[in-house]
Amino acid sequence: MAYAIKEMHYTIQGEGYHAGAPIVLVRFSGCNLWSGREEDRHQAVCRFCDTDFWGTDGPGGGSYATAEQLAQAIQRLWPPQATPEARKRVLCTGGEPLLQLDTPLLEALHARGFTIHLETNGTLPVPPEVDWVCVSPKAGAPLVQRHGDELKLVFPQAGLDPEELLRLDFSHFYLQPMDGPRYAENLRATARYCLEHPRWRVSLQVHKLLGLP
Ligand code: SF4
Repeated sequence: MAYAIKEMHYTIQGEGYHAGAPIVLVRFSGCNLWSGREEDRHQAVCRFCDTDFWGTDGPGGGSYATAEQLAQAIQRLWPPQATPEARKRVLCTGGEPLLQLDTPLLEALHARGFTIHLETNGTLPVPPEVDWVCVSPKAGAPLVQRHGDELKLVFPQAGLDPEELLRLDFSHFYLQPMDGPRYAENLRATARYCLEHPRWRVSLQVHKLLGLP
């Protein structure tokens, strides 16, 4: 199948457990919870979405006809001078990457030595070949993927109670303050909640502090 990619970068992982790690970020185009068009935002499940995932016009974006071609393009972003000890990581994100991420692409990435990280809204099942599963549930959307490595909740979200999410089978739980006009307030609320409920940790968007995509 062909793959529609919004953008690809070699950057620093900004969020959650692997924050700070160099990684190739691949943003898949399209999402099942919003069209990505501003005129449709009032119909979006997550109206707070701050990600541009529509189209294929970002840096490194485009249409890739085969899994091999896309994996090759990802490989070219990994620094050639990196020593073999440096873990080769690729982050598949979106939009919702599971609309496109399939076995041929996962195999092509593994064949090149990549550890495959995934960020998903949890509405679709994750293929077993994925190495690191981060689920970010969204209020109003069905949660199908109920286990994984990391659960990251954009906070606060009316209709999603962090206490209930702790019942799910994840190794790490992160709260990430919702960006936007109430960010300062959300940051304080996130810190307060984690202090009072220490199974949760704060996730900040480090890449933004670093001025990276
Ligand atoms: S699931 Fe993520 S990318 Fe899709 S609309 Fe919601 S916040 Fe945006």
